[in-house]
Amino acid sequence: MFYPDLTPYSYSASDRDTFTDRTTGYRFVSFKAPYERINIGWLDAKEPWTAGPVPAAFAEKLQAILAVQAVNECLGYHDCDLCPDNPPADEQTWRRPGHVRACIGNGEIRVPAQQGAAFAAPLLVGHYVLDHGYQPPQDFIDAVLAFDLNRPSEPRWASFP
Ligand SMILES: [Zn+2]
Repeated sequence: MFYPDLTPYSYSASDRDTFTDRTTGYRFVSFKAPYERINIGWLDAKEPWTAGPVPAAFAEKLQAILAVQAVNECLGYHDCDLCPDNPPADEQTWRRPGHVRACIGNGEIRVPAQQGAAFAAPLLVGHYVLDHGYQPPQDFIDAVLAFDLNRPSEPRWASFP
């Protein structure tokens, strides 16, 4: 599913987000998204995307977010469209914390952006950055670096003043 970076999120028709937080036991906490959702990292092999270096601290923090947060998990899985059709068996794996090369995703993350907004990225975004050299927009890199890992998924973090 391709959406250009920084466009309004539309993958889910629902105005609700459903959070799972792997650190607290919150599972499937659903609420009406109190923020504008902005697309990041919805890549497709048939569409252009930006490759380039990213700060190591960004890549590390992004993996940390992916390890704890899952939003709008669904039953179906999405294979990475950028990987070869038949990746080696050890790369055909479920996404799981710390597994850099996972190339299958079934959910999203939310990263607070400017006031009243949150970046909405597929779980595959970590794989795109680490394994395909995807360079997201600087605003997303800054937002990830500013992410508070002590409050990874609490719906309250999205309630901006
Ligand atoms: Zn891939």
